[in-house]
Amino acid sequence: MKWKQQINGMKAYQPGKPIEEVKKEFGLDEVIKLASNENPYGYSPKVKEFLQSDSTNHAIYPDGYAQSLRTAVANHLGVKESQLLFGNGSDDLIAIVTRALLYPGVNTVMADPSFSQYSHNAEIEGAEVRKVPLTDGKHDLDALLEAIDENTSVVWVCNPNNPTGTIVSDDELQNFLKKVPSEVLVVLDEAYFEYIDAPEYKDTLHYINEYSNVIIMRTFSKAYGLASFRVGYAVAQEEVIAKLDPVRPPFNNTVLSHKVAIIALQDQQFIKECKEKNEIGRKQYVEFCEKHGLKYYPSQTNFILFEVKADSDVVFQEMLKRGFIIRSGNALSSPGFIRVTIGTEEQNSKFLALLEEVLTEQGVFA
Ligand SMILES: *Cc1c(COP(=O)(O)O)cnc(C)c1O
Repeated sequence: MKWKQQINGMKAYQPGKPIEEVKKEFGLDEVIKLASNENPYGYSPKVKEFLQSDSTNHAIYPDGYAQSLRTAVANHLGVKESQLLFGNGSDDLIAIVTRALLYPGVNTVMADPSFSQYSHNAEIEGAEVRKVPLTDGKHDLDALLEAIDENTSVVWVCNPNNPTGTIVSDDELQNFLKKVPSEVLVVLDEAYFEYIDAPEYKDTLHYINEYSNVIIMRTFSKAYGLASFRVGYAVAQEEVIAKLDPVRPPFNNTVLSHKVAIIALQDQQFIKECKEKNEIGRKQYVEFCEKHGLKYYPSQTNFILFEVKADSDVVFQEMLKRGFIIRSGNALSSPGFIRVTIGTEEQNSKFLALLEEVLTEQGVFA
């Protein structure tokens, strides 16, 4: 068959290992997944209540325009309904942007390591991928600017960055946006927006009024705890959304996902509580790293990337045996590091006690 040349040898996304599989493999009763940055507290109790009594008719197609959710998100953000694009998760939005703007002969600029879907989608479309190394775990915006040329179509800024959890400050971003050519689309992927507490970050929404080439992506998968429902949204100027909308698959959310996202959005108290608990959890990891002299990146998310001074794959495997699924840094272009989702206080304590055991076994702690 006449496959696109660029998909030859391409591997499918490697997700975090499923809990059930690990239970079976190691004969464990309990397995905790701290691998995919899901919310350890699940979702709003209001969503739970709704789902228990729900009688949605799943035989009918969803509203492709997501009108009810559109109104709710537009009101929540204070933007026009026509400034929103909904995706089957942000993953879908990344694919839509890529499909609309990337093709052989153009290039796209991104940090490295960053979220793998930017390069993966670009490669499928046959565009050139320009990866700009992070400096000390952070986006090097000057280097990103330098990588842009007349053939650049899209620049990705993962803010906060996955897998390092670091942010681009508002000052840095402001300066960057001023210098990016206006015909280059700047994607601000803010999947962890709800967890940010650093004062250097300021809400970026106003940039879409100032710049016609900025698009912001956010998701219900992380802090809202609705990863399985697959809802993400993008915000930009009307003209940008109007260009992207025909590229979107026609029914890319479900009836039920619209309903739960609206309910989840209304419960900001739940988000606030999760954010506060996450900050406490993050401190547990930071203290562990400081106590043991392990390098870590200052995280503004619900995960943390830190050094283990051992083979990441071995640490991953040893933690798996002990009932914890995490991400090996080897899979994230960060060898010698692991990425761990911040769990509940109890999960974190248990994880860190076991990690101490593993790293002692590995001869890291004398
Ligand atoms: C998790 C994640 C996404 C994708 O989330 P969806 O579940 O597809 O909404 C996008 N970007 C980053 C940086 C992420 O970590």
